[in-house]
Amino acid sequence: MAKKSKIRTPIVCVMGHVDHGKTSLLDKIRGSSVVSTEAGAITQHIGATLVPLDAITHMSGALSKVSVNVPGLLFIDTPGHHAFTTLRARGGALADMAIVVVDINEGFRPQTIEALQILRNYKTPFVIAANKIDRIHGWRVQKDQPFNKTFAQQNERVQGILETKVYELVGKLSDLGFNSERFDRVSDFARNICIVPTSALTGEGIPDILMVLVGLAQRYMTESLKVSADGPGAGTVLEVKEERGLGMTLDLILYDGTLAVGDEIVVAGNEEIIETKVRSLLKPRPMKEILIEERFERVRSVTAAAGIKVAAPKLDGVIAGSPLRVVRGPNRDEVVEQVRHEVQDIQVTLSDL
Ligand code: GDP
Repeated sequence: MAKKSKIRTPIVCVMGHVDHGKTSLLDKIRGSSVVSTEAGAITQHIGATLVPLDAITHMSGALSKVSVNVPGLLFIDTPGHHAFTTLRARGGALADMAIVVVDINEGFRPQTIEALQILRNYKTPFVIAANKIDRIHGWRVQKDQPFNKTFAQQNERVQGILETKVYELVGKLSDLGFNSERFDRVSDFARNICIVPTSALTGEGIPDILMVLVGLAQRYMTESLKVSADGPGAGTVLEVKEERGLGMTLDLILYDGTLAVGDEIVVAGNEEIIETKVRSLLKPRPMKEILIEERFERVRSVTAAAGIKVAAPKLDGVIAGSPLRVVRGPNRDEVVEQVRHEVQDIQVTLSDL
């Protein structure tokens, strides 16, 4: 039987200096869910948020000219460099792309520069959110509107201030060796970093930042995002948690293949490599059903990319950040070796911090 290959959802991490708006941006993206139920609802995963392509095109009000086969974006709910560098997949970063949030009124700060250096080292594509545009004096808020719509509503003075501030960012990025430009003037994503003016508070520019990420993934990543939908699952452990009625569980981002109840899995513990079997897979329940007693909904299997809670025996001592691999067929020893090898790499990263 031919293996089904599909493009998986790219995984996105949000980075930037403290207080520049990382958490607010993630909250805004999550919050826009409730409105667009028909256009494919944004769903809460374990440790992550899935924004389907339909919701993105619906928000931006424009159908993309290129045919898009990236199914959406999966945002890691924990922002920051720490999440980016410690969450790894096969020796690289777990996140396929990043948003670097910069307060447009403050400009670059030490953690902005650090984020850019990290992304350069990992060769991770990213976009700059020039955030807090609503704080520009005289800004007229156009709630949740794409950038071009809100920009057209501003007077010349305000437009001028925004332009100046964007060019200050372009200058700073150039000092660091990056070519950049306001996103609506970029024709070649390979040559220029896109700067998207946003407000995480009013939602202005949020549709654009999502479209730019989809565009980036579509142009540069479709090969690396190809997964075999029925291949053995591979993921990264976000957290190890005891849950009432379930015992020890793993919050996992699955980035490849499929994970199913009953699968044999390999993860890294403090002392040794652990081999066990998936007892249950759990998703958060949708908000509206929260009154139902169980907080989680059980599923039989999940396909990458997804955030899922895994319950299984023998999970005590699993390391956060550990790789998780499904064993299928006769390659058990090989999988154990891979996990052992990858976890060494993680321990080096952790000790660097
Ligand atoms: P983080 O530390 O980068 O996660 O920053 P937060 O998201 O916690 O934001 C820091 C502060 O800036 C909070 O008081 C937010 O309400 C505020 N903030 C974030 N984004 C915006 C924005 O776009 N406009 C305005 N006016 N305030 C914002």
